[in-house]
Amino acid sequence: MTFEELGLSQKVLQAVQASGYTTPTPIQAQAIPPALQGRDILGIAQTGTGKTAAFTLPMLSRLESGRARARVPRTLILEPTRELAAQVEESFAKYGKNHRLNVALLIGGMAFGDQEAKIMRGADVLIATPGRLLDFFDRGKLLLTGIEILVIDEADRMLDMGFIPDIERVCKLVPFTRQTLFFSATMPPEITRLTEAFLHNPIRCEVSRAATTAITIRQALIASRGHADKRETLRNLIRGAENFKNAIIFCNRKRDVAILHRSLVKHGFSAGALHGDMDQLARMASLDAFKNGDVSLLVCSDVAARGLDIPDVSHVLNFDVPTHSEDYVHRIGRTGRAGRSGVAITLVTEDDMKYIDQIQSLIGKAIDWEGPGFDALPPPMETSRPQERRGERGQRRDRGRRPPAAAEREAPVSRRPMVAAAAAREAPVNRRPAAAEREAPVSIGRSRGGRVKADGEGVRPPAYGASAGPPAAERRERRPRHHEDDGPPVVGLGDHVPSFLLRPVALRPAKVGEE
Ligand code: AMP
Repeated sequence: MTFEELGLSQKVLQAVQASGYTTPTPIQAQAIPPALQGRDILGIAQTGTGKTAAFTLPMLSRLESGRARARVPRTLILEPTRELAAQVEESFAKYGKNHRLNVALLIGGMAFGDQEAKIMRGADVLIATPGRLLDFFDRGKLLLTGIEILVIDEADRMLDMGFIPDIERVCKLVPFTRQTLFFSATMPPEITRLTEAFLHNPIRCEVSRAATTAITIRQALIASRGHADKRETLRNLIRGAENFKNAIIFCNRKRDVAILHRSLVKHGFSAGALHGDMDQLARMASLDAFKNGDVSLLVCSDVAARGLDIPDVSHVLNFDVPTHSEDYVHRIGRTGRAGRSGVAITLVTEDDMKYIDQIQSLIGKAIDWEGPGFDALPPPMETSRPQERRGERGQRRDRGRRPPAAAEREAPVSRRPMVAAAAAREAPVNRRPAAAEREAPVSIGRSRGGRVKADGEGVRPPAYGASAGPPAAERRERRPRHHEDDGPPVVGLGDHVPSFLLRPVALRPAKVGEE
């Protein structure tokens, strides 16, 4: 199929041609023709499938007739994060370069004044995050009665972030007769219910399972002891990595983003940071610096990095194992894009093993280990975290009682885990899967929405890949993850206590007469 066959306008076709795209992606081929006819679309597709153009291109074609009025936008696109909203705005600039359309971006963290001026001029396309949109609406600065097309993008992410009540409210504020283009990577029950309530006889377009990871991405796990140890492992990993160009490094919490970023900079790495507590200008500056190659490392939280389209990322490094297994799929999808090869490496502590099991269950395969296993790790380093110090003391006592593991005695383990990979593979250690287990299929995955993978139906996974009982995604309780929910803003040193403050102080015995 060609773009010409989809029914797009000449102006749109010229812009597509100028972008260098020759063939529509599957989601574009499926969604664009019915979208041009005004049908509602239920698109099940994740980022990287070309779904932005799947809704942008037909919108542009349909917007060629008609004009926007002040305060009454004609179309509305809802995005879960500011970065995604800004990315969609860029798509309109690219594909809409032959159109004279007013595009307004309503996102938090930016001044109200400029955004209001754009709305006042009459927006053909309004791209917004739900909070800021409703803020404008509640202040009476915006009417939603003129919306002809409503796009809800990344609906499952909206669910994770607690935006569903906002989405329901918006759906009730826009005219009943509007067209709705709805996209989600997965279809959990809450999302299905939303589509049943607000889509009218939609055309369902499904392009790939959300739980699949690209085969062009080499995935690996590296055992580590704790935060301080992970920082050193990470530095060695970056220094020793083959074909390293740049890396996105994920932490689970915003305050750890800030701490790791500071640590990397202190060790001479060129690194930027991206998390929800940074103001919008700083977030954009960090992202631009990474995209332009001014910094080669970007330390992020999930929220800030979800769905970002950075074409050429050589490595994704999970400093923390994601506690929601779907986040693993989204994180590593930042590399290996557009058929390129990529590397995704995850640092794992023993406490993380339950999450690793869930991830392997979701993606339907075991991830290879590199470097020494937990038992063969070098002695833990001095750490700055009191709770880790307590853990380490326990391990030290333990070490005193039992002999070192065989691998430790026979092959001194390098602190460069990638270099040590081969040696460690030959000496299986605690918690590393046996070869037979590694090779056995572990698929029994379900997507978060409860869709059973065709190839895994009714199959119990072997011991390593998944545990007995319902799949992890079902076991855990769904709770909204607000995008600002991962802790208060980092103040001062955050929870990083410099090691000199933790050093025991030798007290001199008091002399007689001394107080
Ligand atoms: P998205 O899923 O919208 O984030 O798009 C992922 C990437 O695919 C973006 O970099 C787009 O520029 C690119 N893309 C979109 N449509 C096509 C196409 N038909 N051919 C090649 N690349 C495309």
